[in-house]
This record gives sequence, structure tokens and C-alpha cells, in this order.
Amino acid sequence: MISPRNSVDRRYQVVIVGGGPAGLTAGLYCARSKLNSLLIEKGVMGGQITNAERIENYPGFPQGISGMELGRLMYEQATSHGLQTLLSEVVRIVPEYRHNLVETDEGQFFAEAVIVASGSRFRKLGVPGEDRFLNRGVSYCATCDGPLFKSKAVAVIGGGDSAVSEALYLSKFASAVKLIHRRSQLRAAGILQERARAEAKIEFVWDSVVTEIEGDSVVRAIKLKNVKDGTISSLDVAGVFVAIGSEPNTGAWRDVLPVDEAGYIVTNELMETRIPGIFAAGDVRRNSARQAITAAGDGATAALSAQKFLS
Ligand code: NAP
Repeated sequence: MISPRNSVDRRYQVVIVGGGPAGLTAGLYCARSKLNSLLIEKGVMGGQITNAERIENYPGFPQGISGMELGRLMYEQATSHGLQTLLSEVVRIVPEYRHNLVETDEGQFFAEAVIVASGSRFRKLGVPGEDRFLNRGVSYCATCDGPLFKSKAVAVIGGGDSAVSEALYLSKFASAVKLIHRRSQLRAAGILQERARAEAKIEFVWDSVVTEIEGDSVVRAIKLKNVKDGTISSLDVAGVFVAIGSEPNTGAWRDVLPVDEAGYIVTNELMETRIPGIFAAGDVRRNSARQAITAAGDGATAALSAQKFLS
């Protein structure tokens, strides 16, 4: 890890923004190509996968692997090949041909090529009580907070892979898990659906949306609205786990990089944006399959494209 305040060399051939599977794989490829490369991550190396209790679909780990461990291994592999890393938040990117500025809360860096692999963040429900009860019953990460709800009833909101995985994980601790979905059909993969249906503690609440999260000092209940007949009901729960997808982390440079209407960076299949020397990889780009393995693949492609650009 570099100490930027003392660093004389703030010029890099490649700066990678984000330390998830996309960024760390890009970093591994750049480092192995002997490009002077810096990866900047604002949170935890490994990114969103570190929230996953067990990843069972990353090839090479037949028994599955914890997200935290996979992230640690990716980091170790990339840095052992010479990737430099920095824990800091990127606040601005100013593209300029072969002299791109990457501004962080630790100062400015210049790079001939930039790979944006800043991932995505949890989408919020946007209902009353969600912010007020954050960390007091409202959570976006079952792996982090699940054990706090031992023998208590909890709700999980959403119908995708994340919601069903979270519900399954929570069923180890909670007395009951209500999976609340706005439709009557899950979006999650068949194998996860099958497991959830076989778990006695998981109960499905279909065609319903949360309209309010209620409590005193902590969450006590949620208000639900049935979207088919409009009926309102209340459900006593101590925890609310929101798992309704994600939004791209492009806020700080949304105005300068080419993004679609939802804010995802637009690239071609070589991970090139329309700005020469600026690449994007992983969950932050449009049409990403949003899997750890595809993010890693994007990262490798972006690094190879950056290498080609530089030569
Ligand atoms: P997702 O697939 O986008 O699913 C989001 C779910 O939340 C959908 O069921 C959606 O309902 C619901 N939803 C969205 N906005 C809502 C709102 N405002 N109110 C209520 N419900 C709302 O997101 P995800 O589950 O986080 O998965 C994201 C990606 O990561 C996917 O590609 C997934 O395959 C991947 N992932 C994979 C695993 C794995 O184990 N392989 C685990 C986690 C995530 P609708 O169905 O009605 O749209």
C-alpha cells in the first residue's frame, strides 16, 4: 500500500478505480504486464463480494468460498505481482488525452489510462423509516448483521439472487424470515429458489411492497401494501434486510464519462468508453452480468485494452 502524501511519483501508466473483482483482476493483468499501476479503493479490497457469506459460482472453488476470503486472495495475488494500492475515495476524474486526472481525498494522480471499476451500491427502498432505523434494524447486508437477529423475526425485501441468498443466510439465526416481493414470481436462480422453498423458516409474502418501517428506538414492524388489492397490513419484525438490487457508483464523474440513463458507463466489448484511454469494467458498466466472474473477465479485458492503448 502506498503512502500518497509522501509519494513523489503521482504519475502512473494506469490508475484503476475500485478494488472489487473487476479492479483487482485489471490490476493483476496490468502488474503482470509491468505497467506502473495504482488501484484506488475507498472501502474494502474485494468490494461487494466481501458481503457474500459463500460464493458457489466462482470457478475453481468446488466447495464455495467466502466473499471476504476470495477478495483477500485476489488482492494478495495482484499485489504480489507489483500492483500498488491506495485506500482513498476518488472524487473526480477529468479525462485528458494521456494525462487524465484522478482526484482523491488524498490528493491528485495522473494516469495515461484509467480503468473505472467502481462497482455499484445497494438500492434503497425510499420509504419512511429506512434512514431513521439504519443500523437499528434496517440493514443491507445479512452477512454483516444477520447474527444480531438471533431468534427474532426478520423481513427480507426483494425477489432476486441477493434477497433469496440473504433469506437463506438469515434462516440460520432468525426465528422466522418473511421474504417480501412485489410480484408473485421470484427472479432468483432456480437453485436458490429451491433451497428457499425447502427452508421451513422462510415464508413468502407475494405482491407486496413496504410502505413504511416503524419502531421506537429500534425497528418493531413494517407496513405492507398488497399491490393487487390495495390492502394495507402490518408485520411485526425486528430486522428489515433490503435487497432490491443496486445502482452504479458513478456519481462523482457522471457528467464527464459516457453513461446511460440509469448512470451505467457505456463501453464496447473491449471495455473501451468513447473517451480514448478511459475504460470501464464490472458492475459499473452497462450490460454487465453482475457476477464476480464476469466482473473479473471485464477487468482482464479492460487491462488488455489499456495495454494496447499505451503501446
Ligand atoms: P436484481 O436481480 O436486480 O433483483 C432485484 C429484486 O428487487 C427484483 O426481484 C426486483 O423486483 C426487486 N426490486 C427492485 N426494486 C424494487 C423496489 N423499489 N421495491 C421492491 N422490490 C424491488 O438484484 P440482486 O438480487 O441484487 O442481483 C444483482 C445481480 O447480482 C444479479 O445479476 C444477480 O444474479 C447477482 N447476484 C448473484 C448471486 C449469486 O449467488 N449468484 C448473489 C447475489 C447477486 P422484480 O423482480 O419485480 O424486478
